[in-house]
Amino acid sequence: MKIGLFGGTFDPVHNAHLFVAEAARVELGLERMIFLPTRGSHYRSGPVASIEQRMAMLRGALASNPHFAIDETDLDASATGYSADLLPRVRARHPHDDLTFVVGGDSLVDSPWQRFDVVLANLDAFAIAPRAERAPERVDSLLATLAPGDREKLRVLDLPALNGSATLVRRQLARGGSIRYLVPEFVARYIAEHGLYRATPDALAHAD
Ligand code: ATP
Repeated sequence: MKIGLFGGTFDPVHNAHLFVAEAARVELGLERMIFLPTRGSHYRSGPVASIEQRMAMLRGALASNPHFAIDETDLDASATGYSADLLPRVRARHPHDDLTFVVGGDSLVDSPWQRFDVVLANLDAFAIAPRAERAPERVDSLLATLAPGDREKLRVLDLPALNGSATLVRRQLARGGSIRYLVPEFVARYIAEHGLYRATPDALAHAD
């Protein structure tokens, strides 16, 4: 089976995540897109919402798409948050499937990728979605530095670059603005009911 993998903090999941996951799935002819929420991130301050809250929002947001699924491997207490540690575990469960990792262009350029060779060794393909706020030439120059064998697995998706991020959602909430149409209705409702991302000093620090 052709499967896509889409990792993230999802703090919270928003419409650009859903658009990228579905549009990548269609463009690449994937039968399933598996979301891989991560416990935290080692290269930036931790998520604002708890794992349970982020998972509840993700489950609600994905429910209407039968091609979407969630894998909780990266939520294990033992998870490091590094794709190089996660992907061998995912691969072990899908030994015969064709696995494509999907990331936004910023993930490739802005964050430190540990053991990128291990990441690629556990994948059949690595797809990059253009991201509006980030300069595409930086992705091109990074691709140019890869060994030819690795380069063959990478592909830039032919998708429109959408503005939209969890940071934008948190920032809107912190300033008392609307997030309607930035996130699915379920997520907006959940955030309102649980009073998430309000203008506490902590939320404002994360919103920068
Ligand atoms: P934050 O603003 O908190 O950094 P984020 O919106 O980037 O969060 P993540 O959960 O960190 O969300 O990202 C999950 C994946 O979705 C990453 O691969 C990221 O690059 C991608 N992504 C998020 N927003 C977009 C977007 N507007 N266009 C393309 N890819 C995106």
